[in-house]
Amino acid sequence: NENAIEVRRLNKYYQQHHALRDVSLSVRNGERIVICGPSGSGKSTLIRCMNQLEKHQSGDIVLLGNHIVEGGSGMDAIRSEVGMVFQHFNLFPHMTILENCILAPMLVRKLPRAEAVERAMMFLERVHIPEQADKYPGELSGGQQQRVAIARSLCMMPRIMLFDEPTSALDPEMISEVLDVMIELAMDGQTMVCVTHEMSFARKVADRIVFMDKGQIIEEAEPGVFFTAP
Ligand code: ADP
Ligand code: ADP
Repeated sequence: NENAIEVRRLNKYYQQHHALRDVSLSVRNGERIVICGPSGSGKSTLIRCMNQLEKHQSGDIVLLGNHIVEGGSGMDAIRSEVGMVFQHFNLFPHMTILENCILAPMLVRKLPRAEAVERAMMFLERVHIPEQADKYPGELSGGQQQRVAIARSLCMMPRIMLFDEPTSALDPEMISEVLDVMIELAMDGQTMVCVTHEMSFARKVADRIVFMDKGQIIEEAEPGVFFTAP
């Protein structure tokens, strides 16, 4: 049973700035990891390296058994098996919710339109907004848009989902509707790595909480350990 993600001694520089310092982290299949830590500690850089939105300078990333090398076949594994949800929803504003959701399955998976639509509706139901399918992103609340972004990722049926502060751009009253969807995903056994400051979420779903500071992982523990005073 291979690991979903294996990061070994990863180093990432932005010019002179050493953003990741020899970071190693293994994520098992089905595991739910929450990454927390102060602003600027390298959390976002770490998960952006996992799907190669950022290139690292040294170290290894193995994703579902594929070594990630620039231009190598591992990049296909990233594109087809890793879903990512960002702080900002990144929906296409001139396309309806449904069109946003069927685009990648049709282009990348070559699904016939009818199948892509059926799949999109299934995942829009799963994030509890099937009735918004024909609206445009601008007509939805932030919480609804983020749930669409989650559904859109799920339409690719990725084996790994990465979340980068998915609730930090939302008004407070919309945070829980997004977290609830993420909790349901976690309960379904989705492998996920989440950068978030939402400790109630971490306590509920994380198998492991990883604490970063200054480009390093300084602590890793199960939530029970983290949240219990010594
Ligand atoms: P540390 O703080 O651990 O000493 P630094 O941030 O000073 O690490 O970086 C170590 C050195 O590596 C710096 O001189 C930095 O400029 C240099 N460096 C910069 N970019 C790269 C790169 N792409 N690959 C390797 N080393 C780099
Ligand atoms: P976190 O997600 O924990 O807030 P980041 O991974 O975003 O931290 O950033 C880690 C460090 O790298 C920060 O000091 C940040 O300023 C720097 N950094 C991030 N992205 C860039 C970039 N594109 N260019 C230069 N520095 C960057």
